[in-house]
Formats: sequence, structure tokens, C-alpha cells
Amino acid sequence: MTTVTLPDGSNRELPAGSTGADLAASIGRGLAKAAVAVRIDGREADLGAVLPEGATVEVITAGSAEGRHVLRHSTAHVLAQAVTDLWPGARFAIGPAIEDGFYYDFELPGGAHFSDDDLERIEARMREIVAEDQPFVREEHTVEEGLSLFSDQPYKLEIINGVDRGEGAGDSTVSAYRNNDRFVDLCRGPHVPSTGRLGHFKLMKVAAAYWRGDEHRPQLQRIYGTAWESKAALEEHLRRLEEAEKRDHRRLGAELDLFHFPPEIGGGLPVFHPKGGLVRKLMEDYSKAEHEKAGYDFVWTPHLAKSTLFETSGHLEWYREGMYPPMEMEGATYYPKPMNCPMHILVYKSRQRSYRELPLRLFEFGTVYRFERSGVLNGLLRVRGITQDDAHIFCTPEQLSPELSDLLGFVLRILRAFGLEDFEAELSTRPDKFVGEIEDWDKATDSLRQALDTAGIAYAVAEGEGAFYAPKIDVHVRDAIGRRWQVSTLQVDLQEPQRFDMEFVGADNGRHRPYMIHRALFGSVERFFGILLEHYAGAFPTWLSPVQASVLPVRSDHEEYAARVAARLREAGARVEVLAADEQLGYRVRKAKQEKVPYVLVVGDQDLHAGTVGVNSRTGEERGVPLEDLLGRLAAELRP
Ligand SMILES: [Zn+2]
Ligand SMILES: [Zn+2]
Repeated sequence: MTTVTLPDGSNRELPAGSTGADLAASIGRGLAKAAVAVRIDGREADLGAVLPEGATVEVITAGSAEGRHVLRHSTAHVLAQAVTDLWPGARFAIGPAIEDGFYYDFELPGGAHFSDDDLERIEARMREIVAEDQPFVREEHTVEEGLSLFSDQPYKLEIINGVDRGEGAGDSTVSAYRNNDRFVDLCRGPHVPSTGRLGHFKLMKVAAAYWRGDEHRPQLQRIYGTAWESKAALEEHLRRLEEAEKRDHRRLGAELDLFHFPPEIGGGLPVFHPKGGLVRKLMEDYSKAEHEKAGYDFVWTPHLAKSTLFETSGHLEWYREGMYPPMEMEGATYYPKPMNCPMHILVYKSRQRSYRELPLRLFEFGTVYRFERSGVLNGLLRVRGITQDDAHIFCTPEQLSPELSDLLGFVLRILRAFGLEDFEAELSTRPDKFVGEIEDWDKATDSLRQALDTAGIAYAVAEGEGAFYAPKIDVHVRDAIGRRWQVSTLQVDLQEPQRFDMEFVGADNGRHRPYMIHRALFGSVERFFGILLEHYAGAFPTWLSPVQASVLPVRSDHEEYAARVAARLREAGARVEVLAADEQLGYRVRKAKQEKVPYVLVVGDQDLHAGTVGVNSRTGEERGVPLEDLLGRLAAELRP
């Protein structure tokens, strides 16, 4: 018999020579059906792998993150098999699982290209392979055998010669998975037992990709696909994609006349139009008011600084690639600032600081410039001119923990005010290479952990994932369609106070080093704007809507009453427009609705006599609502 340990710590006895599949079957029929691979002593393996005595074994099921990974990568093999069936002589490079799917890179004979029709043909061939229920059989070869097995596949040869372990190529052996006598792929595994376990997939698109991501190497054609454990999960994913497409902030930005990226200015540098500028102002005004209440001091710092500042801060040493090129002026070299921190430190250092002044919280909407390659720019989500709602908090060691707890509470409160409720956080701890003292790192990390516990939000610990100078908390939010966005970051800097030789005079009259917290809450105004736009699909809550109410007179003889209604709403603090009766009423209603105006108010004969309005809001339509009632209802919505 073989005894193995399950994840819950219990032991299980199986006949000697039992496999992962046998284990799953011994636990239950449901598990046997859902199993796609196993983890033996922490390493993923095929279900067919024989379980060693004393091993700890976990069954990987199709719907888990690892299980989906196995399904997706297995589907990528089927894609490569289908393509090489349909285009004999096609070369295939790599085909990993990625978030929500997989891809495979190909080079077709004679440099041919895939068309959209080809995707349908390939998918049909893939379905045949699935119906044939071909087994995925693992093979181990010597390097020589591997080189001969893939002699007509130059990309595979390069992987074998480069000893790319991720692709199954080791120092003395290579592993491969064979589906039939014709198709075999170099691979580390694991895979599902047979192609019949697959089927809930769809090919999505073709894109160009360079081999190894290197523009000097051959250009390949990449086919993307998505694959899931069930038909329902696949359909849900496709529905989400469709929904995301509808919510694309670049599209909404143009439709709602909010912003654009003029080529005359350059990539990643947007201009905000009046309505977008107004939303942005509302975001900033609210943020400023809250910061003022929370005891922040407002500072302002310039966009350029001498190279010497960024030498002291270290940015030129470790962040140079992210910086804009320098400018020469009057014998000095200047850089656009990539971060506001060094300048806030200079504000702190402008005079001697006493412990009585701490914590000192310096806040600024600071625009920084970061070089991002044009290929990674992505609307407002990734720009080159970034306005951070940036604050740096300087405090005593005793203040660090309570300050971080208050700060995280503040951050979550502001995010909630913008309608984001679903949070997850990540705590990134000390990496192998770090600056500063271990005890400072421990104190900072414990304080961050305590802040998370106090806030009571779900968080994961990313061991060793902190920057070399700081542990941090990243706050992620889920939007209306379940996508996860990283927004706020709280970092405890264990480097800059040292580099700038920062001090405060303590109660003991001695000189001490303050702690420094970096914190951006929106992250950047541009990116947060884009996230909100997608979260709300353009229909901002009333307080953030550029126009809160449109008043539509039915005929021109109702215009005077419409003007009076608009004036009353304005008095109450609403942003109102009147759409005069020179166009059809239906057309005007549609126009206001397309512009996502929260309250479309129609006034006609009866309203004029009764002092009422017809209310067409996001939740429905009502006739004859007394104007005073409407004002009462709006009062709570006009402000955050
Ligand atoms: Zn594989
Ligand atoms: Zn900073």
C-alpha cells in the first residue's frame, strides 16, 4: 500500500502504484470528474503520475485557478495540432496559458497569414480533435532525441538548446507530450489526461508577435483563445467581454465629449474637454475638501528639477528608464519629475522640525512625467503625464502604526464615496535585496498588517514582493462587472529619509529620523477617471455628472416655464441645461439619455398649470411630480 497526505492533513491508503486519478476516484465521483491534474509535494503533475509513498497530494480541479491554467494550456496544444494539420509544414513556437485564456505563436509556410475565416476552420478542426479524445502522453527524451524529434521545428530547437525549463527543456532531458503519432509538443506539463476533457473554448483573434518579444527576430502570428471548465463559465466570460467593450473608456470619452489624445501633443498626453474637465474638477474638489478635514497641509511643487535632486533621491540610479530625457539650461541638467516625493522632502527640510509638528501630512495634485513605451499606452489607464493625488506623511516611530490605520480607513472611505465598495488588498513584504535595517522593515510591515486588520478588508500577503526600499499595501477594487483594478498604494519608505538625512528634534531634545509614508489614493487622476468611467459605463452618479438635469419644454410656449424650473434647480445647486423646443421632443429625450444625464425633465401644459415636472430618470418615468418634491429628492444626490 501507499500512504499519502491530503491538504487537510488526513492520510489516505491506496494500493501501491496508484495514480492521481486513482486518488481522486477514491475520494469521490464528483472529484474524479473535476480533476485535471495533481500537486505532489508542491509540484504539479499529470493525473496519471504514480503517487510516491509519504507524499502530500492535492487534486487540482478544473474550476480552480491552477486547473483553468491546465485546461487552457492543453487547449493551446490542440490549437497547435489543428494548425499543423491544416497547414502542413507550419512551425509552432510557444503556447502558454494566460489570464482568461491562452495563445500560440505560429509561422506559416511561405509567410502566409491567418484570416478571420481561418479561425473558424481551425476551431472546427480543434473540435474534431476533442471529439477523438486523444490522450496526452508524457515522454521523457535525452537532449539528442529531443533535437531529432523537433528537427523541423526551429523554435523548439532553440528552446531545447537554450535549456528553457519553463518549456520542458532541461540540462540532460527534455519532456514532451504526444497526442498521436503525428503531433508532439515540447512541454513541461502537466496536461489533462485526454483532449476529451476540453471543449469549452473559443478562438478570439490573430495578432502579430515577435519571437521572444524581440523586434529583430522573426515576426510570428499569434492566435488568442479563451477556455473554461464549463459552457456556463465560457458564456459568462464572453458576456463580460461584450460588457467591457461597451464600457471602454476611450469610446465613452469620445461619445460623451470628455477628453481626447491629440496626435499634435503626443502619445499618452490627453486633453480634457469642458465636461471631462468638470468631472475631474469635482473629483479634485471633493478630494481636497476631505484631505483638508483629515489634517493634510497643501503644498505645490514644480514640474522640473536639477539632476542633483534625483541623484540624492536615487531616482537617476534606479528609475532612469522611467524618466523623460534631460534638458540643459544655464550649465545645469534638468529633468521632468517622475515623482513628487523628493520635492515634498525639501518642504520638510526647509527648516528644523520638532516632534510636536508630526505627523506632517503634505498633499498635492502633482503632475509627474514618466516614459512609457508607446506600445503599452492604454487610453487614460496608462499615460505619460500622470497627476497623482499624492501625499507624503512624516511621523515619529510611535505614530507610524496609528497613522497607517487612520490612513487606510481614510482611503477606503474616499473610495466608497466614489461608489467603489468591493476591496481586496495585497501586503508586499521585504524582498531578498533591500536597503535599511531589518527591524525597521519589521516595524513597518507589522504596522501595515495592523492597518489591514483594523480596516477588516480581505488581503493576501505577497512575500518578498515589496520594492527594495519599502513594504506596501496595494488596494484593489472590483468594478460593476467584476474586474479588478489596482488603485491606492500605501508605502513605508525606508530609504529616502536616510538619503536626505531627514531629522526631527524629539521630546528628549535629541535628533531622530522620521518615518516616511508615500500614498496615492486615486493612484492617478487620469487612471481613476478611466476606471470610474468604465465602472459606471459613463452614467456617473448625480454628484459627478457634468449635467445633472436637462429640462425639455414640450412646445415652445412651455419654454418660459422650463426656464423657471431650471432657475429653481440652479438655486438648489444643480447643474442644469434647457433643451429648447426647436427639435422633436423624442429626439431631445434620446440626446439627453445618450449623454447620460441623470434627470431628464419634460414640462408641458399640465405641468405649467400644476407646478409639476415629468421625471425621466435612470430608474424610471413619473408624470406630474411637484417641483418641490423633486428638489427634496435631489438635495441628497447633488453632492457626494
Ligand atoms: Zn504543454
Ligand atoms: Zn512618494
